[in-house]
Amino acid sequence: MTKNVTVEKSKTSKIHDVDFDNLSFGSVYTDHMLVCDYVDGAWQTPKVIPYQPISLDPSAKIFHYGQSIFEGMKAYKDENGKAWLFRPLENFKRFNKSAKRLAIPELPESHFMDGLTTLLQVEKDWIPQNPGSSLYVRPFILASGNGFHASPADEYKFIIACAPSGAYFSGKVKVLIEEKYSRAANGGVGYAKAGGNYAGQFYPTQLAVEKGYQQVIWTDDNTHEYIEEAGAMNIFVRINDTLITGPTSDRILDGITRKSILQIAEDQGIATEVRKITVSEVVEAAKNGSLKEMFGAGTAAVVSPIAAFGYQGTDYELPELEQSYASQLKQYITDIQNNRIEDKFDWRYPV
Ligand code: PMP
Repeated sequence: MTKNVTVEKSKTSKIHDVDFDNLSFGSVYTDHMLVCDYVDGAWQTPKVIPYQPISLDPSAKIFHYGQSIFEGMKAYKDENGKAWLFRPLENFKRFNKSAKRLAIPELPESHFMDGLTTLLQVEKDWIPQNPGSSLYVRPFILASGNGFHASPADEYKFIIACAPSGAYFSGKVKVLIEEKYSRAANGGVGYAKAGGNYAGQFYPTQLAVEKGYQQVIWTDDNTHEYIEEAGAMNIFVRINDTLITGPTSDRILDGITRKSILQIAEDQGIATEVRKITVSEVVEAAKNGSLKEMFGAGTAAVVSPIAAFGYQGTDYELPELEQSYASQLKQYITDIQNNRIEDKFDWRYPV
């Protein structure tokens, strides 16, 4: 335990009520949480305390102006029972990028990293060891300061909550290329993990679900001609043997899985391109048979293969491949995360 974090242990544990062989995603929470308040112009000492509800004034700015950000990461346990994180400093850096864009005071690195590792050391028994399972870790900041005035709050809460979780998606998904709604715009907050970005995705996703799809492929807000993200994941397209993903921008989240996949693919001799992808080239490639794979990439699902996509009333099926880039890359990244192979990129981080 670090001296910069205080620990108050829970007197009871819920762990024996949890069926670790049948975990859903993010719906049971561990015994403790990390809480750190921003008051009087400074982030205070982070505290590990028993998991509990928080109390806020109805005028707290989070409720009115959505001033909130979050991160998503996972802790893994290897065969020997040792716990690991995957590139947590990347989450920390992105957290502060999001904070800055939402006018939330940036968090010192030690508050994030010491808070995170202390909490995980306390919750070590909650990190599942079953294949595909992990402890999902959710750091977030909300504006707890009061006032109906539309301006940044003067008080905030940084919290980390954890949920033992099974696999996020099971099987391949059918997606709809969005032609009307957008998740992000130039100059906007798409590159930040701002709570409101996700609220804005729910309605178009509901419409897609009503039409028989599971997810939306977001296109650019201006022309809807470029493919940008897959739900809350970055998107990869394989045309012939080249793996392509769009460049990060104001509108595209700089995903840690995305950049890890690019690095692994290059290391394994897979041709990669980071460039804008047009909807028309994907439709054309689906028609002429050169479209081999599409998949989403993100912490929760790692890699989520796409079975088919809908566009302008037509569904296009993707081929079933015996050896897909999606499964090859997912295997490699999860082998690193779970300490099953050498970590040549130095991405594993001991808890
Ligand atoms: N895009 C969006 C919009 C996301 O919310 C996420 C999940 N954080 C990602 C991409 C994937 O990012 P990461 O690989 O860092 O989880």
